[in-house]
Amino acid sequence: MRRQPSSPLVLLLAACSLAAAPAAPAATPPASAPRQTVTVAPPAPDDRIHAAAEALAPKLVELRRDLHMHPELGNRETRTGALLAERLRALGIEVRYPVARTGVLAVLRGGRPGRTAALRADIDALPIQETNDVPYKSRVSGVKHACGHDGHATIVLGVAEVLSGLRSELPGTVVFLFQPAEEGPPEGEDGGALLMMKEGALIDPPVDAVFGLHADPLLDAGTVGWATGPIFASSDTFRITVAGKSTHGALPHTGLDPIPVAADLIEALQPLVSRETDARSPKILTIGTIQGGSRFNIIADKVSMDGTIRTLDEAVRIDLKTRMDRTVRGIAAAHGTTATLAWIGASNPALINDAALTRASLPALRRACGSDHVVEVPPQMAAEDFAHLARRVPGFYLKLGVRNEKRGITAMLHTAAFDLDEAALPLGVRALANVVWDFNAGPASETR
Ligand SMILES: [Zn+2]
Ligand SMILES: [Zn+2]
Repeated sequence: MRRQPSSPLVLLLAACSLAAAPAAPAATPPASAPRQTVTVAPPAPDDRIHAAAEALAPKLVELRRDLHMHPELGNRETRTGALLAERLRALGIEVRYPVARTGVLAVLRGGRPGRTAALRADIDALPIQETNDVPYKSRVSGVKHACGHDGHATIVLGVAEVLSGLRSELPGTVVFLFQPAEEGPPEGEDGGALLMMKEGALIDPPVDAVFGLHADPLLDAGTVGWATGPIFASSDTFRITVAGKSTHGALPHTGLDPIPVAADLIEALQPLVSRETDARSPKILTIGTIQGGSRFNIIADKVSMDGTIRTLDEAVRIDLKTRMDRTVRGIAAAHGTTATLAWIGASNPALINDAALTRASLPALRRACGSDHVVEVPPQMAAEDFAHLARRVPGFYLKLGVRNEKRGITAMLHTAAFDLDEAALPLGVRALANVVWDFNAGPASETR
């Protein structure tokens, strides 16, 4: 993102005037109190963060539209990654690129001591044909930013620009993670948050907490949603393969028909959700595809079924998998055949917002957005690979309202008609900048 001609000067003057002000006096503990090294950091410069974010609004829209017009699928975000790396370098931020194939890891070191926060944005698009008739319509046939990742990348780059303009006052370090392949890498490739971590994210430099946000078409633009504990579900993909023995459809006793076995399995798996596991913990078992047989009068030689399970609790996730395995083997055995249950593709644990980190972040969010616009939201059964990052260090993941009913912006994520209200972009910058600033200024032990 290029700076507006006037913004560096304004920010520089503002930074100088604050730098010249006397530092806040350090708290002196009473003589009897145990000695602690507590640094009292000055409060976040909310007004200047807000002003800088608002001043960036036209550039945020421009970048978001650029990314939207040039969407790239997971692990193929070469233009996107290079563009982000170039703009971060132009801000004078240390840049490591490429990371995890097409991602970017950038480090902004503040002028004051403090903790280290990571801010993550995903950058991949989806194989969906855009149907919106807008000037910034996707120019890539069959590919579209239908999950709002163009907005996420724009917002996190916006935070980098705002905070780099205030770097002399910024406590601690902020690590910006622009992550490829959140929607899952192509078959046979690794990628996403796990590969980012494998290539140094959260470790080099070491990070105390990780933050991020997702566009939410269920929330009005101007609103931010939070949850403590689970905010997105775990996701695991399974394939059940039932073995059969092909024969003539009129002589089934001479073969082994896997289709009734599959039918029994579908019936037998749902009670694991409705009868066998605690109803107070949400979970889903979906069979999305069934494939078997080639002709009406031929007994199939096998049936395979693919599906997904979602949970909000790791113990429930493990328990459900164990019960599925038992059920698949047992039902097949009852029919005198065998069936296998395989876990395939990328999987995600539930995304758990750290309770202490969430609590500590709410004041910053309320200052950024106004108390009335910060709402608690229920968890969703969709999944997010940010969950892997939030398992390594405490994490806080927000939902950013992007809905605007008056303008007809109501389509859900992962649809051909999804769009976001760009008025949400500067709000996202303010929210994340405030949250990260407060975190970095906090005492070192708070979330450890
Ligand atoms: Zn998505
Ligand atoms: Zn997404």
